[in-house]
Amino acid sequence: MPRMSLLKDEFFNKMENIGLALTFDDVRLKTGYTEVMPEEVSLESLFSRNIPLKIPIVSAAMDTVTEHELAIEIAKLGGLGIIHKNLTPEEQKNEVARVKYHLNGLIEKPICANENEKIEEILKKREERGYTFHTFPVINSEGKLVGILTENDFDFCNNTELYAKEVMTRQLITAHQGINIQEAYKIMVKEKKKALPLIDKDSNLVGLYVFSDVKRIITGSSKNYNIDTKGQLRVGAAIGVYDDAIARLEKLIKEHIDVVIIDTAHGDSKSVIETLKEIKKFYPELDVVTGNISEPESAERLIKAGADGIKVGQGPGSICTTRIIAGIGCPQVTAVYNCSKICDEYNIPLCADGGLRYSGDIPVAIGTGANSVMMGSMLAGTKEAPGEIVFLEGRQWKSYRGMGSLAAMTTNRGSRERYGVKKELVPEGVEGLVPYKGELKDILFQYVGGLKKGMGYVGAKNINELREKADFLYFSSAGQRESHPHDILITKDPPNYKSEGA
Ligand code: 5GP
Repeated sequence: MPRMSLLKDEFFNKMENIGLALTFDDVRLKTGYTEVMPEEVSLESLFSRNIPLKIPIVSAAMDTVTEHELAIEIAKLGGLGIIHKNLTPEEQKNEVARVKYHLNGLIEKPICANENEKIEEILKKREERGYTFHTFPVINSEGKLVGILTENDFDFCNNTELYAKEVMTRQLITAHQGINIQEAYKIMVKEKKKALPLIDKDSNLVGLYVFSDVKRIITGSSKNYNIDTKGQLRVGAAIGVYDDAIARLEKLIKEHIDVVIIDTAHGDSKSVIETLKEIKKFYPELDVVTGNISEPESAERLIKAGADGIKVGQGPGSICTTRIIAGIGCPQVTAVYNCSKICDEYNIPLCADGGLRYSGDIPVAIGTGANSVMMGSMLAGTKEAPGEIVFLEGRQWKSYRGMGSLAAMTTNRGSRERYGVKKELVPEGVEGLVPYKGELKDILFQYVGGLKKGMGYVGAKNINELREKADFLYFSSAGQRESHPHDILITKDPPNYKSEGA
């Protein structure tokens, strides 16, 4: 169904008629009459057909941005993290598992210990697999529940050569399969138990409730988290094409991955389309986002092949050199606008990936037609991003590099695949340092704050209204200069603005 004509259509048509393609600095949103208070707006949106967001911010699938630590934090703040693929399928699966096991409503398949395992073996497994929890139901060789190991059991065990059956707590409070979270909460409070195993009529273990998670859900303190229907944090993962995609998917599906991205520099390609069709044939329930593209015809081809989400951005990224070395691309705002017209027709969410520098670029991207934004450099350098802090010239930094940079491609097949190269490495990205930014929650608070203010100025009380009401003005370089602070020597940058060169 063709979408209705919007205010911004006239603006973009005019620009197209004079041959201008635009990016973030070229435009700002027009202000309009408002009754909307920024703190009252709803930021709920969609990343893909079935994957909701509480805030429309997604972290880039890059090895200096998203592993489990950042994915956990961003999902707790309402967004979504995409685990990168410069990892073996096993390592990537473990990263996803760490996010999925971070919180739980009902754990349907709890990780168990066998009664004949030694405590040292269990601790080793815990460390190797990166489990952050301490509660292990203990089963015998027939799979029957015989006890439980809790944090106390591990803390007070001074001989790790003992077997689980010698250390575990035997007096169990259990409940029957099928009890709901409210009933579980009541039992746990009454019995003062931090874990409640569920058993079937034959004493087989069929689930586990953990008090901290149950309490969080019951008391509503997780209402802003991006969680799935089982109470686990949502997370996505990048995959390649053909064999790589299948090898990763087989593992990721077991960890209940929420969404995968076929992550390539050129999404409008035979390999992506064939891989997409293959995945949708075997896993029709799984949301698959494809990218990256910048032309509307590409969006249509991918949607017709079954894509549940489209990712737009070829070369806008802060670490990208694609447009310079390959001579292709489309400035990001025009690319998002053009692709969004197709995505809207088919009701498929669009994610604007790359090129954002300030919080004000978020309402611009969404007003243009995106349903969410993907960020690399704006999240790199946070405490939760992978990598150590380095000290240079009296300041703290963290590394940030393109997935198509020489360093990333030399060491990782995942990067080589993204850029479609085998042996001859022609980089499409750079590597470097970004200032250390501190905790993700403080950074996102500012980004979300900027988006809310933009919505207030436009008079949009939710993301859809922002997409519908948005209208734009073209900014000359004089207009851009006027927009930044001027005629002042800035002595201290505020937390949401960095002066050029800072
Ligand atoms: P940023 O937010 O830093 O401006 O852009 C991040 C986005 O740049 C990523 O999500 C990804 O789509 C893209 N990207 C990551 N590494 C490279 C690279 O080496 N070359 C290019 N052309 N794009 C990259």
